[in-house]
Amino acid sequence: MMALGEVRVARRVLLAGGLAATAVTVSGMPAVAGSRRMAPSIASTADWDARAASGSIQVLDSKPTKIVVHHTATPNAEDTSQAHAFELCRQIQNYHMDSNGWIDTGQNFTNSRGGYLMEGRHQSLAALRGGSQHVRGAHAGEQNSVALGIENEGTYTEAAVPSALWSSLVELCSYMVAQYGIAAGEIYGHRDFMATACPGAVLYGRLPELRAQVGARTGSPVVQPVTWPLVVPGASGDVVSALQLLLRARGFGVPVDGVFGAGTVRAAEAVVRRRGAAEGSCLAARVVEPGLFGGQAWLEVTPELVRGAEGDAVRAAQVLLRARGVSMSVDGVFGDSMVSVVREFRGSRGLVASGVVDEVVWRWLLS
Ligand SMILES: [Zn+2]
Repeated sequence: MMALGEVRVARRVLLAGGLAATAVTVSGMPAVAGSRRMAPSIASTADWDARAASGSIQVLDSKPTKIVVHHTATPNAEDTSQAHAFELCRQIQNYHMDSNGWIDTGQNFTNSRGGYLMEGRHQSLAALRGGSQHVRGAHAGEQNSVALGIENEGTYTEAAVPSALWSSLVELCSYMVAQYGIAAGEIYGHRDFMATACPGAVLYGRLPELRAQVGARTGSPVVQPVTWPLVVPGASGDVVSALQLLLRARGFGVPVDGVFGAGTVRAAEAVVRRRGAAEGSCLAARVVEPGLFGGQAWLEVTPELVRGAEGDAVRAAQVLLRARGVSMSVDGVFGDSMVSVVREFRGSRGLVASGVVDEVVWRWLLS
């Protein structure tokens, strides 16, 4: 099934690749002269004795614009040796090829708890060294053709990130940023795009620090991104109330009690399924993670709102504005007073002054 998924998206990859190539000539920075100095030691697929890929690797004629950080959702192994790291790579490749039906390892690179860096999907290392092309992986769904994926060994829902793994992650991200001219603020966690706990709350919580360290090493200015929240079972509060109103606006008969309970979870899961997880995604997001809502599934429930709009989606925006201290009634009517409120809100966030609640405003309101 996943093999079909990979074939199905191939046409779109060509399109996305073309668009990305155009964008890069406008905004991309050339690889900096000093980036070769920054090159970390990365073991190739030959070094860890990878199997041959079972299909042709797509080397895209464009630079990636993002880095997506994952955790492998495997045990937090005590063995920090290179032999263990290589064994991990072989296990992941076997799983991706034999169980997922993919042509090769999904992620572009793997980072072990001992701090060993390794190539994942074939040709990813040569492409990174070259700095003008990248390999399309299978790790983050819709982002696969524009983002490099790094799998970090372990499960970081609660456990601390080992310092060796952290150092090598900083090194690898810095090298990617230098080689491709990726902005240091464009380092994300998998959950920023999909309804998954990946890369775990602990590692995810350290992404601002990762961006800052990579920015400092590469001289790339860091703008911390505003991202969609992950809603987990048992969550409560204004974001959940807003989600419930947004689900109601989409026709789901959920309560508006601010609690992410069973009925709301079922409706949210239906939206996640509608968004689809058919494209290749990392193991952590493919094991059952019931009741999570987040990433780009938010796009399914956050319509663009303008003056004259009415109903529960407007109420959702009003609830979130009130939660941010704006004095306004929750009447579900997008009238002149709400236009001024939104205009002011956008201005205070440095956004283009308008009275429109668009995707960016929703992200700010929900974050
Ligand atoms: Zn992931």
